[in-house]
Amino acid sequence: MSAPGPAGEAGSETNGAAGAGTGEAQGTGEAHGTGEAHGTGEAHGTPRRIAYGVDVGGTKILGVAISPDGDTIAERRVPTPRQAAATAARGHGGGTGPREVRAGSGTHPGDAVADAIVELLEALHDDVVAQAPAPTADLTEVPVGIGVAGLVDTEGVLRFSPNLAAASGANIGKLVTERLATGGRLAATPLRSHNDANCTALAELVLGAARGMRYGLVVTLGTGIGGALVIGGRVHGGARGFAGEIGHMVVDPTGPLCPCGHRGCWERFASGSGLTRLAREAAVAGMLHESVRLAGGDPEHVTGEHVTAAAAEGDVDALRVIEDLGWWVGLGLANLVAILDPERIVVGGGLGHAGEMLLEPARRALAELVEGGAARGPVPVVEAALGEHAGAVGAALAALTGSFDDG
Ligand SMILES: [Zn+2]
Repeated sequence: MSAPGPAGEAGSETNGAAGAGTGEAQGTGEAHGTGEAHGTGEAHGTPRRIAYGVDVGGTKILGVAISPDGDTIAERRVPTPRQAAATAARGHGGGTGPREVRAGSGTHPGDAVADAIVELLEALHDDVVAQAPAPTADLTEVPVGIGVAGLVDTEGVLRFSPNLAAASGANIGKLVTERLATGGRLAATPLRSHNDANCTALAELVLGAARGMRYGLVVTLGTGIGGALVIGGRVHGGARGFAGEIGHMVVDPTGPLCPCGHRGCWERFASGSGLTRLAREAAVAGMLHESVRLAGGDPEHVTGEHVTAAAAEGDVDALRVIEDLGWWVGLGLANLVAILDPERIVVGGGLGHAGEMLLEPARRALAELVEGGAARGPVPVVEAALGEHAGAVGAALAALTGSFDDG
């Protein structure tokens, strides 16, 4: 699921992908816009042409254009249409046609999101065309990929998404392709949507902290927890495309309610939401004075950001809460290490800013809690490299390389 990063400024800028050593193309055959790439375990190459990627979250839609070097050369963002976040289409995602009209609704699932994406893509395309000197890449048909927060099947249909409930059942890629075909401003090759966290992992795998990784894990700690498994050098989609939903491993069946409908999912404890919960408990118990001051004096208003800020200044109470959060992170990682035996774990998302304050206690808890920890030896847990653009960059890469091992 989505793991939003901190809010950033609109406008063109270069993200962390810039200069990320893109000279090391890994010699895969190119497969421009082919959708699925088959084959076993070959590494991903860097992009060879301009592509656009869109990351659709519960609150915002981010679009980027990436250069053949993998640099972000333009970006646009719009709020996610409120209609998309409504619950109108809950339960729609059965086997019926994605564009089936629901009685009385007047719109199809995903229409509002698709309209917003098309508008964003056309604006992004205008930005790219207007850039001087003109890019040498072919701009008549640009590969476009879309990452969506939720369970996206191997056909690109959004099957389940608490954050985009009204788009559930829609094939957003197909809706966008249809609109672009009639719009005439940007001719995109048929495009497909993917899970957003898988896109993030692809970006880290091609351009970031997971480069060269063959067996590993990419975790994004934001409001929730996103995750993706890297197996044999590829992002593992699973039989239906739903693999890697690690945030919804249940770690306490009596725990807090999760937007997915279950109780005690890992992401309720080890994400930004989990940090806010831990912080309020501590604040109400009379601790966290500095964080409470930053929150305007009300313990009930303390958030994860206040605690992170206080901890960065060395506040002992705040550091203790971050350490508690790190324990929860380590607990989930221990479970995942037992299953996957990863060579390393890449951690990103909004909480990635907590850096070593969080990762150090997470590593400690992981070593303590995993089966045979001492005998296994340490599993490196490292910070992600690409920041909040990673999902959109990865969606663009997915359009270029078709790079998920699924279905
Ligand atoms: Zn859940």
